[in-house]
Amino acid sequence: MSRVRHDDDDDEPRAKRRSADAGDRGVLEGAAAPEDDSAASIRPQRFSEYVGQTALKRKLEVFVSAARQRGEPLDHTLLHGPPGLGKTTMAQILAHELGVRIHISSGPAIEHKGVLAGHLTALEEGDVLFIDEIHRLSPTVEESLYSAMEDGRIDLPVGEGSRARTMPFDLAPFTLVGATTRTALLSAPLRERFQIIEGIDFYSDAELAKIVQRTASLLGMPASADGAKEIGRRSRGTPRIANRITRRVRDFAQVRGRDRIEAADAEYALEQLGIDRAGLDGTDRRILAVILDQFEGGPVGIDALAATLSEPRDTLEDVYEPFLLQRGFLVRTPRGRQVTRKALKHLGRDDGRKGSGSDSQGQLDL
Ligand code: ADP
Repeated sequence: MSRVRHDDDDDEPRAKRRSADAGDRGVLEGAAAPEDDSAASIRPQRFSEYVGQTALKRKLEVFVSAARQRGEPLDHTLLHGPPGLGKTTMAQILAHELGVRIHISSGPAIEHKGVLAGHLTALEEGDVLFIDEIHRLSPTVEESLYSAMEDGRIDLPVGEGSRARTMPFDLAPFTLVGATTRTALLSAPLRERFQIIEGIDFYSDAELAKIVQRTASLLGMPASADGAKEIGRRSRGTPRIANRITRRVRDFAQVRGRDRIEAADAEYALEQLGIDRAGLDGTDRRILAVILDQFEGGPVGIDALAATLSEPRDTLEDVYEPFLLQRGFLVRTPRGRQVTRKALKHLGRDDGRKGSGSDSQGQLDL
């Protein structure tokens, strides 16, 4: 039942979840969708190819070497961070560096205990089981994962009808790598069963430029330093988006008869894609504009905002909001989300009103 896969099959549920009203969302739509790696093998395979996240890499390299020296599996590891930042990639690198196989699944795909048992019993000694969106496991599946993680054992159903019972089954020692957008989404008992819990942060512009250069070369259309910088700067701190934009910029550059992506090609393509100089797309700008126009700048609760925008709350919280917060276009207050003066300026709506006591954060004075 369990398959060894090195691709993104299991991104499907994520893609589905947010594609109900896809519409015209530009390059960010499907930020969690697989597209990026389809043709060339763009996904890094080794720590050395994984750009950025230096502190995280350093720690994980130590944990992997130590596990290898002891001849034991790596401890169960939880990776958290917004979509597209490299959690799946890191899970694959961990397996590669440990010299073991990886079995890939996701919370929504493991519909019942039987599916989980199928994955677990197919594991060989030291293998990695990667569960993406692990916060979306059902409570009963989650519960059977506890004994697998803790005691290396699961209960398998045997017999039928009145003679049905369960039989304990010893699993091969394995590593569970779980990925989630926010640790707060995980139940405390599940979170506590991970020995390694690490976050992945947004990437710097320079790191993204490096990723763009790597991807562009692999795609056969190298990018100049300035071209890569321009794409990197406008990729929302997210490698998946940088790769996606690079593909689209390549299309524009190719059709314009170029053999290399220059800054002007990047700028032209980004403009066509509706991605502005701060890396915001149409939906980002719509979010800020709606808070400003319909909620007087905020604070507004996430549910009211999601309803007004006709966007799923999950998509707003996981895909859009983290970047808007990180770049200071939004702030979160106990009463909800509020736009900042930076957002006002960005939308060309700053009429020079002075901020209040919260001015240090650039919050809008209402
Ligand atoms: P997540 O699982 O966090 O949603 P992925 O691991 O699928 O994100 O990463 C999305 C894409 O971005 C990958 O296909 C990979 O090519 C690229 N990528 C992610 N992190 C890095 C990195 N640190 N260096 C280079 N490319 C990366």
